[in-house]
Amino acid sequence: MGPGARAGRVPRRKTTMIEVIDFNLIDEAGPQSYRAEFAIEPKELDRDEVLALGPVSIQANAQAGDLPREYVADGSVSFTADLECSRCAEPFPFANASTFHVVFRPRPEASRENEEVEITAEEELDVEFYSERSIPLRDLALEQVQLSLPMKPLCDDNCLGLCPTCGANRTREKCACEESIVDERWGALKGFREELSKKKDV
Ligand SMILES: [Zn+2]
Ligand SMILES: [Zn+2]
Repeated sequence: MGPGARAGRVPRRKTTMIEVIDFNLIDEAGPQSYRAEFAIEPKELDRDEVLALGPVSIQANAQAGDLPREYVADGSVSFTADLECSRCAEPFPFANASTFHVVFRPRPEASRENEEVEITAEEELDVEFYSERSIPLRDLALEQVQLSLPMKPLCDDNCLGLCPTCGANRTREKCACEESIVDERWGALKGFREELSKKKDV
């Protein structure tokens, strides 16, 4: 049997784009490595705090997993962004590099029970269920950016935010409101203590 005959029998996809993890190719040719860069628009993230996003780089290795029809991808994603501080609303630069480990398993056949059982085990938090046997690297990159963005971005851990009374940026300037706010709080606390002691006396 000549090599040509064998190649003719193996159904192969016509296009094997580097930007897609193709499970069939892994089955045929073994582990694959990927490297790509994507332009992602801040609006795709659905996060108002992201003002701008630089190119997102992804590097990944994918191979067959231990279970039948299971595949594993390991890699890293890095990007830079301009975020808006959730306390003072000032833009600040943000850079992130993170690694990921994702296990792809075929989506269970419409069985809720099954899915819940799969996800409860701690080590299986990174499991994603696939219905298509190809995963666009861009989706993986986008997902990692989402996961890497802080829930409440801060320009600095010590950012004092805006004065609720006059709107001044309290990290840069000291306004006169602060002391009166503190007085009010103490006043409220004092009143509360008096209430409490009255109740105890009853
Ligand atoms: Zn801030
Ligand atoms: Zn103020």
